[in-house]
Amino acid sequence: MQYEAVIGLEVHAQLSTDTKIFCSCSTQFGAEPNTHTCPVCTGMPGSLPVLNAKALQYAIKTGLAVNASIAPYSRFARKNYFYPDLPKNYQISQYELPICEGGFIEIKTDDSVKRINLTRIHLEEDAGKNIHEGSSPYSLVDFNRTGVPLMEIVSEPDIRTPREASAYMRKLRDILRYLEVCDGNMEQGSLRCDANVSVRPSGQKEFGVKVELKNMNSFRFVEKALEYEIGRQIKLLEEGGTIRQETRLFDASTGTTHSMRSKEQAHDYRYFPDPDLTPIITNQEMISEIQRQMPELPDAKYKRFIDLYGLPALDAEMLVEDKRLAEWYEEAVRAGGNPKAISNWIMGDLMRLLKEDNKTIDDCPIKPLHLVKMLSLIERGTISGKIAKTVFQEMFKTAKDAEVIVREKGLVQISDSSEIEKTVDEIVAANPKEVERYIKGEDKLFGFFAGQVMKATKGKANPQMVNELLKKKLIRS
Ligand code: ADP
Ligand code: ZN
Ligand code: MG
Repeated sequence: MQYEAVIGLEVHAQLSTDTKIFCSCSTQFGAEPNTHTCPVCTGMPGSLPVLNAKALQYAIKTGLAVNASIAPYSRFARKNYFYPDLPKNYQISQYELPICEGGFIEIKTDDSVKRINLTRIHLEEDAGKNIHEGSSPYSLVDFNRTGVPLMEIVSEPDIRTPREASAYMRKLRDILRYLEVCDGNMEQGSLRCDANVSVRPSGQKEFGVKVELKNMNSFRFVEKALEYEIGRQIKLLEEGGTIRQETRLFDASTGTTHSMRSKEQAHDYRYFPDPDLTPIITNQEMISEIQRQMPELPDAKYKRFIDLYGLPALDAEMLVEDKRLAEWYEEAVRAGGNPKAISNWIMGDLMRLLKEDNKTIDDCPIKPLHLVKMLSLIERGTISGKIAKTVFQEMFKTAKDAEVIVREKGLVQISDSSEIEKTVDEIVAANPKEVERYIKGEDKLFGFFAGQVMKATKGKANPQMVNELLKKKLIRS
């Protein structure tokens, strides 16, 4: 029997506001434990929460970007449970009236574009962090994260494969980064995903029993966890077993999932509207103002890069993934560089050098104009494409101008035909056996001769002239 998986994701995105959602404590990551706390976020009796306007704006902005409808009236609810990292014994969240409903995100599958519908987006506060240290008989709790604003984005069960799930996550991260509402850092936990997955025989309409997977902090882990879990569920069904509705944890070291709690052990949160916070009432004016600040989104930029610059889909996809990289690219194009040549240098050498040095495009030593100037040195024949690679690397290391590097290092291309001819003659004279074999028909030896000439000139000979001269000298009788 053939099976099909059904997947729905619940993504928590930490909003990049400076302060917490209901108090003015800092949200900065990595501070000394319990230094970013106050009576509100530590749940002291009598303290009152006040909604951070920016957190609300960010949620609305996200809703607009994913075509959701913004609720004219929504409110906060208390989600009651007891846990050491939750000092109030309830988390302020949204329940029956979230800030956004509906909407969709489009992902690229192998052969088409697929729309993943969204259920809702709501605002809530994060909990603190329990720290269990080695063998000590106690645990510690850090409340710095308590009250940090989160946005939960819930998808409909429209996803069918692990790859679609990670494509959805990536797309969502790209959108959040473009909007500058979340830094999308999965390692630091700014973007966290719970995946719900069930399987059903192909063709069956009803969904199977779902399992919730937690603890996946990379796109790869989301895919791996889902792959493992789908396999586990299918095997269980084939053996005549039944799927238990439960929450399972992914273990990255083994690539497997194990049960954390069953449905019977699930919390009963006893939600009720939070009486300490006023309902959120939005109006058209407020929404239009946020709409006005909307940047061009990844999908629109992708389409524009293809239409305007004639880029292949692959180039556009890569450039658009990071808004800052796309800006860098366009700055270079505006400075007069060839759009495809610039893209090639970014996708090849620039990305590699950035990665090697653990840098982002923001601290890239090469500025767009520097690349364009180097490209014009290639176009004018001052340097060869091969030498340009050396120049580019040097530009990255020293942040110097291409022309300065070429002058200082004596890298100007040799386009003097008599000089090249001399070297060609030497190489031909020094390799009589190869000449004979070439003349007898071993075509591939041409590359050997060209390589020898380039080596002798330290890569500086004009490659086109080398080819022409070699052809002239190696005429077959
Ligand atoms: P719960 O009440 O257990 O949180 P929800 O109905 O709120 O469940 O759904 C949570 C997530 O699970 C959503 O992303 C939804 O799309 C997904 N989901 C719901 N039913 C299924 C199913 N049968 N298989 C896979 N995913 C599902
Ligand atoms: Zn506080
Ligand atoms: Mg739910």
